[in-house]
Amino acid sequence: MKRVSILGSTGSIGTQALEVAKMHGMQVTALAAHSRAELLAQQAKEFHPSCVCIFDESKKELLTELLSGEKIEILSGMEGLCKIAASREADIVLNSVVGMVGLLPTLTAIEAGTDVALANKETLVAGGSLVMRAAAEKGVNIFPVDSEHSAIFQCLQGNSMNPVRKIILTASGGPFFGKTTEQLTQVRAADALKHPNWDMGNKITIDSATLMNKGLEFIEAKWLFDLKPSQIEIVVHRQSVLHSAVEFEDYAVIGQMGVPDMKIPIQYALLYPERKACPTRPLSLTEYGTLTFEQPDYETFGCLRAAIDAITEGGLRPCIVNAANEEAVAWFLRDEIGFLQIGELVRAAMESVRGGDVTCYEDVLEADKAARAYVRSRILNK
Ligand code: MN
Repeated sequence: MKRVSILGSTGSIGTQALEVAKMHGMQVTALAAHSRAELLAQQAKEFHPSCVCIFDESKKELLTELLSGEKIEILSGMEGLCKIAASREADIVLNSVVGMVGLLPTLTAIEAGTDVALANKETLVAGGSLVMRAAAEKGVNIFPVDSEHSAIFQCLQGNSMNPVRKIILTASGGPFFGKTTEQLTQVRAADALKHPNWDMGNKITIDSATLMNKGLEFIEAKWLFDLKPSQIEIVVHRQSVLHSAVEFEDYAVIGQMGVPDMKIPIQYALLYPERKACPTRPLSLTEYGTLTFEQPDYETFGCLRAAIDAITEGGLRPCIVNAANEEAVAWFLRDEIGFLQIGELVRAAMESVRGGDVTCYEDVLEADKAARAYVRSRILNK
Protein backbone atom coordinates (compact mmCIF):
# COMPACT_ATOMS: atom_id res chain seq x y z
CA MET A 1 0.00 0.00 0.00
CA LYS A 2 1.29 3.47 -0.90
CA ARG A 3 2.43 5.90 1.78
CA VAL A 4 0.85 9.34 1.52
CA SER A 5 1.48 12.81 2.93
CA ILE A 6 -1.31 15.36 2.85
CA LEU A 7 -0.87 19.12 2.51
CA GLY A 8 -4.19 20.71 3.46
CA SER A 9 -5.44 17.84 5.61
CA THR A 10 -8.16 19.75 7.49
CA GLY A 11 -9.89 21.06 4.36
CA SER A 12 -12.67 19.43 2.36
CA ILE A 13 -10.32 17.39 0.12
CA GLY A 14 -7.93 16.57 2.97
CA THR A 15 -10.56 15.16 5.32
CA GLN A 16 -12.08 13.06 2.53
CA ALA A 17 -8.62 11.81 1.57
CA LEU A 18 -8.10 10.65 5.15
CA GLU A 19 -11.35 8.72 4.92
CA VAL A 20 -10.02 7.01 1.80
CA ALA A 21 -6.62 6.38 3.43
CA LYS A 22 -8.32 4.87 6.45
CA MET A 23 -10.54 2.59 4.40
CA HIS A 24 -7.53 1.16 2.54
CA GLY A 25 -5.07 1.13 5.42
CA MET A 26 -2.69 3.59 3.75
CA GLN A 27 0.19 4.81 5.85
CA VAL A 28 -0.05 8.58 6.40
CA THR A 29 3.48 9.94 6.74
CA ALA A 30 2.79 13.66 7.24
CA LEU A 31 -0.12 16.09 7.63
CA ALA A 32 -0.19 19.84 7.08
CA ALA A 33 -3.00 22.32 7.75
CA HIS A 34 -3.48 26.04 7.33
CA SER A 35 -4.63 27.08 10.81
CA ARG A 36 -7.01 24.54 12.33
CA ALA A 37 -4.68 23.24 15.04
CA GLU A 38 -7.34 21.29 16.97
CA LEU A 39 -8.48 19.23 14.01
CA LEU A 40 -4.90 18.70 12.84
CA ALA A 41 -3.93 17.39 16.30
CA GLN A 42 -6.93 15.09 16.30
CA GLN A 43 -5.97 13.73 12.86
CA ALA A 44 -2.37 13.27 13.98
CA LYS A 45 -3.46 11.23 17.00
CA GLU A 46 -5.54 8.99 14.76
CA PHE A 47 -3.13 8.52 11.83
CA HIS A 48 0.29 8.76 13.58
CA PRO A 49 2.27 10.67 10.94
CA SER A 50 5.96 11.25 11.64
CA CYS A 51 5.46 14.99 11.32
CA VAL A 52 2.78 17.66 11.12
CA CYS A 53 2.91 21.24 9.89
CA ILE A 54 0.74 24.22 10.69
CA PHE A 55 1.04 26.97 8.10
CA ASP A 56 -0.11 29.72 10.44
CA GLU A 57 2.93 30.25 12.68
CA SER A 58 0.81 31.77 15.44
CA LYS A 59 -0.86 28.37 15.97
CA LYS A 60 2.37 26.42 16.41
CA GLU A 61 2.45 26.80 20.18
CA LEU A 62 -1.12 25.55 20.52
CA LEU A 63 -0.39 22.60 18.23
CA THR A 64 2.74 21.72 20.23
CA GLU A 65 0.67 21.79 23.41
CA LEU A 66 -2.08 19.63 21.88
CA LEU A 67 0.47 17.04 20.75
CA SER A 68 2.68 17.02 23.84
CA GLY A 69 3.67 13.46 24.67
CA GLU A 70 3.28 12.34 21.03
CA LYS A 71 6.37 11.38 19.05
CA ILE A 72 5.56 13.73 16.18
CA GLU A 73 7.82 16.41 14.73
CA ILE A 74 6.03 19.77 14.58
CA LEU A 75 6.76 22.15 11.72
CA SER A 76 5.27 25.45 10.58
CA GLY A 77 5.02 27.91 7.71
CA MET A 78 6.11 27.50 4.11
CA GLU A 79 9.36 25.97 5.33
CA GLY A 80 7.41 23.18 7.01
CA LEU A 81 5.23 22.57 3.95
CA CYS A 82 8.29 22.28 1.76
CA LYS A 83 10.08 20.02 4.24
CA ILE A 84 7.14 17.61 4.04
CA ALA A 85 7.04 17.91 0.25
CA ALA A 86 10.77 17.18 0.04
CA SER A 87 10.63 14.12 2.31
CA ARG A 88 11.09 10.76 0.61
CA GLU A 89 8.99 9.01 3.26
CA ALA A 90 5.87 9.28 1.11
CA ASP A 91 5.21 7.63 -2.26
CA ILE A 92 2.70 10.32 -3.10
CA VAL A 93 2.05 13.86 -1.85
CA LEU A 94 -1.55 15.03 -1.93
CA ASN A 95 -1.45 18.80 -2.42
CA SER A 96 -4.85 20.19 -1.45
CA VAL A 97 -3.85 23.59 -0.09
CA VAL A 98 -5.80 26.60 -1.38
CA GLY A 99 -4.19 29.13 -3.68
CA MET A 100 -0.83 30.07 -5.13
CA VAL A 101 0.76 29.09 -1.82
CA GLY A 102 0.67 25.51 -3.16
CA LEU A 103 3.09 26.13 -6.01
CA LEU A 104 6.38 25.89 -4.13
CA PRO A 105 5.44 22.65 -2.29
CA THR A 106 4.39 21.09 -5.64
CA LEU A 107 7.71 22.03 -7.24
CA THR A 108 9.54 20.76 -4.15
CA ALA A 109 7.81 17.35 -4.26
CA ILE A 110 8.59 17.00 -7.96
CA GLU A 111 12.22 17.93 -7.30
CA ALA A 112 12.35 15.14 -4.70
CA GLY A 113 11.00 12.70 -7.29
CA THR A 114 7.72 12.07 -5.46
CA ASP A 115 4.43 11.67 -7.33
CA VAL A 116 1.87 14.40 -6.70
CA ALA A 117 -1.90 14.03 -6.38
CA LEU A 118 -2.89 17.56 -7.31
CA ALA A 119 -5.99 19.20 -5.93
CA ASN A 120 -4.42 22.67 -5.85
CA LYS A 121 -5.49 24.02 -9.26
CA GLU A 122 -3.91 27.45 -8.71
CA THR A 123 -0.55 25.66 -8.90
CA LEU A 124 -1.06 24.81 -12.55
CA VAL A 125 -2.77 28.06 -13.40
CA ALA A 126 0.05 30.22 -12.08
CA GLY A 127 3.01 28.01 -12.87
CA GLY A 128 1.80 25.34 -15.31
CA SER A 129 4.81 25.48 -17.60
CA LEU A 130 7.24 25.23 -14.65
CA VAL A 131 5.36 22.33 -13.03
CA MET A 132 4.91 20.26 -16.19
CA ARG A 133 8.49 20.81 -17.32
CA ALA A 134 9.86 19.78 -13.91
CA ALA A 135 7.59 16.72 -13.75
CA ALA A 136 8.74 15.57 -17.20
CA GLU A 137 12.38 16.07 -16.29
CA LYS A 138 12.06 14.09 -13.06
CA GLY A 139 9.71 11.43 -14.45
CA VAL A 140 7.20 12.29 -11.75
CA ASN A 141 3.47 11.62 -12.17
CA ILE A 142 0.92 14.36 -11.56
CA PHE A 143 -2.39 12.68 -10.77
CA PRO A 144 -5.34 15.07 -11.06
CA VAL A 145 -7.74 15.17 -8.12
CA ASP A 146 -10.11 17.77 -9.56
CA SER A 147 -13.18 15.74 -10.59
CA GLU A 148 -13.22 16.96 -14.21
CA HIS A 149 -9.53 16.33 -14.74
CA SER A 150 -9.71 12.98 -13.03
CA ALA A 151 -12.55 12.14 -15.43
CA ILE A 152 -10.44 13.10 -18.45
CA PHE A 153 -7.49 11.18 -17.04
CA GLN A 154 -9.71 8.12 -16.59
CA CYS A 155 -11.07 8.45 -20.14
CA LEU A 156 -7.53 8.52 -21.50
CA GLN A 157 -6.53 5.21 -19.89
CA GLY A 158 -5.62 2.72 -22.58
CA ASN A 159 -5.69 5.46 -25.21
CA SER A 160 -2.17 6.83 -24.98
CA MET A 161 -1.48 5.99 -28.63
CA ASN A 162 -4.59 7.78 -29.89
CA PRO A 163 -4.80 11.49 -30.65
CA VAL A 164 -7.36 13.54 -28.72
CA ARG A 165 -9.55 15.77 -30.87
CA LYS A 166 -10.90 17.73 -27.93
CA ILE A 167 -12.09 17.45 -24.37
CA ILE A 168 -15.51 18.35 -23.03
CA LEU A 169 -15.11 20.03 -19.65
CA THR A 170 -18.39 19.95 -17.77
CA ALA A 171 -19.48 22.76 -15.44
CA SER A 172 -22.31 22.69 -12.91
CA GLY A 173 -23.00 26.33 -13.70
CA GLY A 174 -22.91 27.20 -10.01
CA PRO A 175 -25.73 28.68 -7.92
CA PHE A 176 -26.34 31.61 -10.31
CA PHE A 177 -26.76 29.81 -13.61
CA GLY A 178 -29.36 31.56 -15.76
CA LYS A 179 -29.18 34.80 -13.78
CA THR A 180 -28.68 38.15 -15.50
CA THR A 181 -26.08 40.78 -14.62
CA GLU A 182 -28.90 42.86 -13.20
CA GLN A 183 -29.94 40.05 -10.84
CA LEU A 184 -26.37 39.53 -9.67
CA THR A 185 -25.66 43.08 -8.51
CA GLN A 186 -27.06 42.47 -5.03
CA VAL A 187 -25.42 39.07 -4.39
CA ARG A 188 -23.55 38.80 -1.07
CA ALA A 189 -21.01 36.22 0.11
CA ALA A 190 -23.63 34.23 2.02
CA ASP A 191 -25.72 33.75 -1.19
CA ALA A 192 -22.72 32.62 -3.21
CA LEU A 193 -21.62 30.12 -0.57
CA LYS A 194 -24.62 27.85 -1.24
CA HIS A 195 -23.56 25.41 -3.98
CA PRO A 196 -26.19 23.02 -5.38
CA ASN A 197 -24.06 19.87 -5.94
CA TRP A 198 -20.66 20.04 -4.32
CA ASP A 199 -19.71 20.66 -0.72
CA MET A 200 -16.42 22.58 -0.85
CA GLY A 201 -14.26 25.19 0.84
CA ASN A 202 -15.18 28.91 0.69
CA LYS A 203 -12.72 30.02 -1.97
CA ILE A 204 -13.66 27.35 -4.51
CA THR A 205 -17.36 27.83 -3.78
CA ILE A 206 -17.12 31.51 -4.74
CA ASP A 207 -15.05 30.52 -7.79
CA SER A 208 -17.89 28.17 -8.76
CA ALA A 209 -20.43 30.98 -8.44
CA THR A 210 -18.40 33.34 -10.67
CA LEU A 211 -17.46 30.46 -13.04
CA MET A 212 -13.82 31.40 -12.42
CA ASN A 213 -13.47 27.84 -11.17
CA LYS A 214 -14.19 26.60 -14.70
CA GLY A 215 -11.78 29.15 -16.11
CA LEU A 216 -9.05 27.89 -13.78
CA GLU A 217 -9.93 24.31 -14.74
CA PHE A 218 -9.71 25.22 -18.43
CA ILE A 219 -6.11 26.33 -17.82
CA GLU A 220 -5.43 23.32 -15.60
CA ALA A 221 -6.64 20.98 -18.39
CA LYS A 222 -4.46 22.72 -20.95
CA TRP A 223 -1.36 21.96 -18.90
CA LEU A 224 -2.23 18.50 -17.60
CA PHE A 225 -3.18 17.10 -21.00
CA ASP A 226 -1.00 19.26 -23.25
CA LEU A 227 -3.92 20.78 -25.20
CA LYS A 228 -4.46 23.95 -27.19
CA PRO A 229 -7.20 26.24 -25.84
CA SER A 230 -9.20 25.51 -29.01
CA GLN A 231 -9.36 21.83 -27.99
CA ILE A 232 -11.29 22.53 -24.79
CA GLU A 233 -15.07 22.92 -24.84
CA ILE A 234 -16.95 23.97 -21.73
CA VAL A 235 -20.46 22.59 -21.37
CA VAL A 236 -22.85 23.43 -18.53
CA HIS A 237 -24.22 20.21 -17.08
CA ARG A 238 -26.37 21.03 -14.06
CA GLN A 239 -26.51 17.56 -12.51
CA SER A 240 -22.72 17.01 -12.17
CA VAL A 241 -23.05 13.35 -13.15
CA LEU A 242 -20.92 13.35 -16.31
CA HIS A 243 -17.65 14.61 -14.87
CA SER A 244 -16.08 15.35 -18.28
CA ALA A 245 -15.40 13.56 -21.55
CA VAL A 246 -12.82 13.11 -24.31
CA GLU A 247 -13.54 13.15 -28.04
CA PHE A 248 -11.09 11.09 -30.06
CA GLU A 249 -10.09 11.32 -33.72
CA ASP A 250 -12.95 9.00 -34.81
CA TYR A 251 -15.53 11.20 -32.97
CA ALA A 252 -16.02 8.51 -30.35
CA VAL A 253 -16.65 10.34 -27.07
CA ILE A 254 -15.71 8.64 -23.82
CA GLY A 255 -17.00 10.16 -20.62
CA GLN A 256 -16.77 9.29 -16.94
CA MET A 257 -19.85 9.35 -14.75
CA GLY A 258 -20.58 8.91 -11.08
CA VAL A 259 -22.32 10.62 -8.19
CA PRO A 260 -20.85 14.06 -7.40
CA ASP A 261 -18.56 12.91 -4.58
CA MET A 262 -14.89 13.96 -4.47
CA LYS A 263 -13.90 10.74 -2.73
CA ILE A 264 -14.03 8.94 -6.11
CA PRO A 265 -11.42 11.15 -7.86
CA ILE A 266 -9.37 11.46 -4.65
CA GLN A 267 -9.18 7.69 -4.34
CA TYR A 268 -8.36 7.21 -8.02
CA ALA A 269 -5.41 9.60 -7.67
CA LEU A 270 -4.16 7.95 -4.48
CA LEU A 271 -4.58 4.30 -5.55
CA TYR A 272 -3.87 4.66 -9.28
CA PRO A 273 -4.02 2.41 -11.27
CA GLU A 274 -6.13 0.32 -8.92
CA ARG A 275 -9.87 0.55 -8.49
CA LYS A 276 -11.24 -0.56 -5.14
CA ALA A 277 -14.41 -0.09 -3.12
CA CYS A 278 -14.83 3.60 -2.25
CA PRO A 279 -16.61 5.15 0.75
CA THR A 280 -19.34 6.71 -1.43
CA ARG A 281 -22.61 5.61 -3.04
CA PRO A 282 -23.45 4.13 -6.43
CA LEU A 283 -24.89 6.18 -9.30
CA SER A 284 -28.52 5.58 -10.18
CA LEU A 285 -29.17 7.04 -13.62
CA THR A 286 -32.91 6.45 -13.36
CA GLU A 287 -32.96 8.50 -10.15
CA TYR A 288 -31.66 11.45 -12.23
CA GLY A 289 -33.81 10.55 -15.24
CA THR A 290 -32.60 13.49 -17.33
CA LEU A 291 -29.14 14.88 -17.90
CA THR A 292 -28.95 18.33 -19.51
CA PHE A 293 -26.20 20.14 -21.43
CA GLU A 294 -26.09 23.85 -22.20
CA GLN A 295 -23.79 26.69 -23.29
CA PRO A 296 -22.09 28.77 -20.60
CA ASP A 297 -22.96 32.48 -20.42
CA TYR A 298 -19.62 34.18 -21.09
CA GLU A 299 -21.17 37.65 -21.02
CA THR A 300 -22.56 37.57 -17.50
CA PHE A 301 -19.72 35.54 -16.02
CA GLY A 302 -16.74 37.66 -17.01
CA CYS A 303 -14.24 35.66 -14.98
CA LEU A 304 -14.61 32.68 -17.29
CA ARG A 305 -13.84 34.70 -20.40
CA ALA A 306 -10.92 36.43 -18.67
CA ALA A 307 -9.33 33.09 -17.76
CA ILE A 308 -9.69 31.74 -21.30
CA ASP A 309 -8.27 34.96 -22.76
CA ALA A 310 -5.38 34.74 -20.29
CA ILE A 311 -4.29 31.25 -21.27
CA THR A 312 -4.78 32.03 -24.95
CA GLU A 313 -2.37 34.93 -24.54
CA GLY A 314 -0.11 32.79 -22.33
CA GLY A 315 3.00 33.72 -20.33
CA LEU A 316 2.22 35.34 -16.98
CA ARG A 317 -1.40 36.28 -17.87
CA PRO A 318 -2.96 33.22 -16.18
CA CYS A 319 -0.90 33.90 -13.05
CA ILE A 320 -2.13 37.52 -13.01
CA VAL A 321 -5.74 36.45 -13.47
CA ASN A 322 -5.43 33.89 -10.70
CA ALA A 323 -3.82 36.32 -8.26
CA ALA A 324 -6.34 39.07 -9.02
CA ASN A 325 -9.13 36.57 -8.44
CA GLU A 326 -7.68 35.31 -5.14
CA GLU A 327 -7.41 38.89 -3.90
CA ALA A 328 -10.88 39.93 -5.13
CA VAL A 329 -12.53 36.82 -3.65
CA ALA A 330 -10.97 37.55 -0.25
CA TRP A 331 -12.54 41.05 -0.33
CA PHE A 332 -15.87 39.66 -1.50
CA LEU A 333 -15.91 37.07 1.32
CA ARG A 334 -15.62 39.98 3.77
CA ASP A 335 -18.57 41.68 1.99
CA GLU A 336 -16.28 44.59 1.05
CA ILE A 337 -16.92 44.39 -2.70
CA GLY A 338 -19.87 43.20 -4.78
CA PHE A 339 -20.15 39.94 -6.69
CA LEU A 340 -19.80 41.46 -10.16
CA GLN A 341 -16.75 43.45 -9.09
CA ILE A 342 -14.76 40.21 -8.89
CA GLY A 343 -14.97 39.77 -12.65
CA GLU A 344 -14.36 43.47 -13.32
CA LEU A 345 -11.22 43.49 -11.17
CA VAL A 346 -9.91 40.28 -12.74
CA ARG A 347 -10.43 41.69 -16.24
CA ALA A 348 -8.83 45.02 -15.32
CA ALA A 349 -5.80 43.29 -13.76
CA MET A 350 -5.40 41.09 -16.79
CA GLU A 351 -5.31 44.12 -19.06
CA SER A 352 -3.21 46.38 -16.83
CA VAL A 353 -0.61 44.37 -14.90
CA ARG A 354 2.63 43.84 -16.79
CA GLY A 355 2.91 40.28 -18.16
CA GLY A 356 5.81 38.62 -19.92
CA ASP A 357 7.20 35.11 -20.06
CA VAL A 358 7.44 32.54 -17.28
CA THR A 359 11.08 31.61 -16.99
CA CYS A 360 11.35 30.78 -13.29
CA TYR A 361 9.44 30.64 -10.01
CA GLU A 362 10.42 34.23 -9.15
CA ASP A 363 8.66 35.54 -12.28
CA VAL A 364 5.46 33.91 -11.07
CA LEU A 365 5.85 35.28 -7.55
CA GLU A 366 6.43 38.79 -8.83
CA ALA A 367 3.46 38.79 -11.20
CA ASP A 368 1.30 37.35 -8.42
CA LYS A 369 2.31 40.16 -6.06
CA ALA A 370 1.82 42.85 -8.69
CA ALA A 371 -1.68 41.61 -9.54
CA ARG A 372 -2.74 41.53 -5.87
CA ALA A 373 -1.36 45.01 -5.29
CA TYR A 374 -3.22 46.26 -8.37
CA VAL A 375 -6.55 44.84 -7.15
CA ARG A 376 -6.05 46.27 -3.64
CA SER A 377 -5.26 49.73 -4.96
CA ARG A 378 -8.29 49.66 -7.29
CA ILE A 379 -10.57 48.78 -4.39
CA LEU A 380 -9.06 51.24 -1.91
CA ASN A 381 -8.87 54.18 -4.33
CA LYS A 382 -12.42 53.90 -5.47
MN1 MN B 1 -13.65 20.66 -10.52
